[in-house]
Amino acid sequence: MLETAGKSLDPKDWTAFRAQAHRMLDDMLDYTEGLNSNPVWQPMPAELQTTLRQPLAEKTLADAHADFMQKILPYAVGNPHPRFMGWVHGGGTPVGMVAEMLAAGLNANLGGRNQAPVEIERQVMRWVRDLFGFPETASGLFVTGTSMANLIGCLCARTNVLSAEVRQNGLRNAPELTAYTSNTAHISVGQALDISGIGTAALRKISVNKNYEMDVEALEQAIISDKHAGKTPFLVVATVGSVDVGAIDDLQKIAALCEREKIWFHIDGAFGALAMLAPELAPRLGGIERADSIAFDFHKWGQVPYDAGFILVRDGDIHQQTFASPAAYLQRHERGLSDNSPWACDLGLDLSRGFRALKTWFTLSVYGEEKLGQVIAHTCELAQYLKQQIEITPELELLAPVALNIVCFRYCCDEANRVNTELVITLQESGIAAPSSTTLNGHVAIRAAIVNHRTTKNDIDILLAAVLKFGNTLTSSKP
Ligand SMILES: *Cc1c(COP(=O)(O)O)cnc(C)c1O
Repeated sequence: MLETAGKSLDPKDWTAFRAQAHRMLDDMLDYTEGLNSNPVWQPMPAELQTTLRQPLAEKTLADAHADFMQKILPYAVGNPHPRFMGWVHGGGTPVGMVAEMLAAGLNANLGGRNQAPVEIERQVMRWVRDLFGFPETASGLFVTGTSMANLIGCLCARTNVLSAEVRQNGLRNAPELTAYTSNTAHISVGQALDISGIGTAALRKISVNKNYEMDVEALEQAIISDKHAGKTPFLVVATVGSVDVGAIDDLQKIAALCEREKIWFHIDGAFGALAMLAPELAPRLGGIERADSIAFDFHKWGQVPYDAGFILVRDGDIHQQTFASPAAYLQRHERGLSDNSPWACDLGLDLSRGFRALKTWFTLSVYGEEKLGQVIAHTCELAQYLKQQIEITPELELLAPVALNIVCFRYCCDEANRVNTELVITLQESGIAAPSSTTLNGHVAIRAAIVNHRTTKNDIDILLAAVLKFGNTLTSSKP
């Protein structure tokens, strides 16, 4: 237990606390500096699991820190490591880490009120607005992640078609709404329909072409046939950087269709939208500026530590109508702490919220847009390098086109699905590299998502060598 000054929770001995705090900072910097010599991931030993499942115990700060170093830090997922390539996880940065510490020290509540931290969030919002070519009437805010941002986009689309009256009356007298996305879209799109009361049955999952992009003709047909059946199409969700293969839907064509049909055009750009930072990639996102709302994460390609998602809405009025609620204790005044409307609580589901903007503001300011764009472009170059190596290696087969930074491939052999599933698990357990797996057209794929700014060509070579080694062992050890 920490010895405190009376009933306060502050330390009695600030000098000792300061020394301990500095040790904690140094340990995290050592960890980050030495990432490459650690395994990417290792399973928790059974006895550790047992220890961690015991009830909380009182301890000193130094002991809690020692526990962290021995029992927690070595057994995390490993996404800061250069050879973590599973799912789409950001690597984080030391700048983001120390900024997060400053935010925690300030303990700001970003629900609203008249304070500089709110202005920092707005500054980032304006930066986002300019990046995506949105007008000054746009509004936006930090959220946990793209899952939440997709929900907010869906709720704004619901206000757009039914007016804010839906907030009082629900969907009872509403027309039957329908929404559209590709059949490779992220699960949070269906979840948004579910939670907004419209229901997942209203979501039409449109087929994709051979590049895994939404088939815009099939989309148009689905909209026409729903209209003929008396339904009201209200939302199209396009994807920039699909979960499985990183595909980018044809934003110009979808924008034109939505404008013609007066349907809300939302983009799930969870990791892909920040490709706008790389001049060589940005043209491929042409049409993003025509969206009604964009959901994306700073915590993936933006390298900001978790969590830092963002929602941007073209029409700030619709955004506010969707969430603002009168409440006596949230009343605004022209002066004092309750000035500075609109507040974040007028634009989303949370009242109390942390200062996610600070670590993002530090990341954007200290590294700069150009450097972050280069990191993003470099991960795509590494994906192309991996693709080329796969193409010249007879044991390996590419399973999907490489649009951005995700490469899906497999080790060729009998019983390929079983072997490749096992191969991915073996790779993860080896601690050498950690891709994840997915299934494409019935084939189990090794899926390498290159997101981390620390990943180099050498890491790709290490991954390839390990795939070949384990593939060979798994296929030659048959009974
Ligand atoms: C990661 C991801 C999401 C979900 O984002 P979270 O930040 O995890 O909530 C949604 N869509 C796509 C395409 C993603 O890659």
